[in-house]
Amino acid sequence: MTCKELDGVCDVKIKGETPEEMMKNSQEHAMSANDDAHKNKMKQMVETNTGPEAVKKYMNDFKVKFDALPED
Ligand SMILES: [Zn+2]
Repeated sequence: MTCKELDGVCDVKIKGETPEEMMKNSQEHAMSANDDAHKNKMKQMVETNTGPEAVKKYMNDFKVKFDALPED
């Protein structure tokens, strides 16, 4: 999946064997990119996904997306 497909802002490929690993790698990518576009996106995501219910929903949606990915 690319950063963009993970609600990000660029076309860098993010790899992960599991949804959890993918999430972790995408966060690390956004941190290491360290530009305003990524920083603003992270901030926006944190503000949107507040509370355990929102986080749970976000993870569920993400897992569905992850399972639908073609193997490469
Ligand atoms: Zn990115």
